[in-house]
Amino acid sequence: MNSANGNFVAAGASRGPVRAYFRDIWKTVHTILVGMRISLKYCFAKTITLQYPDVAPALQPRYRGFHFFEIEKCIACDMCAKACPVDCIYIEKTGPRKVDKNTGIATGGLMTRYAIDYAKCMFCALCVDPCPTECIHMGNLHDMSGYTRDDMIVEFTDLAKEGLQTPQPLWMQSEKPPAWAQQRKAEWEQYKHSRDQLTSDVNRRREEMAKAVAPEA
Ligand code: SF4
Ligand code: SF4
Repeated sequence: MNSANGNFVAAGASRGPVRAYFRDIWKTVHTILVGMRISLKYCFAKTITLQYPDVAPALQPRYRGFHFFEIEKCIACDMCAKACPVDCIYIEKTGPRKVDKNTGIATGGLMTRYAIDYAKCMFCALCVDPCPTECIHMGNLHDMSGYTRDDMIVEFTDLAKEGLQTPQPLWMQSEKPPAWAQQRKAEWEQYKHSRDQLTSDVNRRREEMAKAVAPEA
């Protein structure tokens, strides 16, 4: 009886791992099939050629494009640079910076450099979450070109001197970009994408950006 009972327990115990083994195989096959079904759907979908840049790119709202950066709120704490897995954010300052609670603007030392090397950036957004002042964001354009690797380094401090928070593709800087690009450009220049209460006064914003990178006259 004991012996028979013992055999029963051993057989029951051995069925568990075997069952788990086959369950894992089924799960693996099932998930591959689900993935392949989605891939196959796109394989046989009609191909559409988008006449970019004449036609706006069809990007999702959560698309992670070139950053936009609110330099006037940056306290140069390096948290974004430390979080970056490929070390492509370069920050230099003349002294500590602190956000004024009343204005939301950082004051103190100057931002002498805030640059991102887009030859290395993988648009993972890991730099965005740790920012204590929420001044670095993923933007809404994917387009940049250059002849050298150095052309891929965007100096946001230089952009700030021109009142810009995000780099613009060369074709967008022409006199007559397509209508959608003109609208996007205007949104950038009006800081429509900034997520705070400082946006209502564009001139003030430009002044604050200029103050962050150069001493007051
Ligand atoms: S998006 Fe990722 S790779 Fe690019 S700068 Fe931010 S953390 Fe670095
Ligand atoms: S962008 Fe944000 S995390 Fe990076 S240095 Fe400035 S305040 Fe710090």
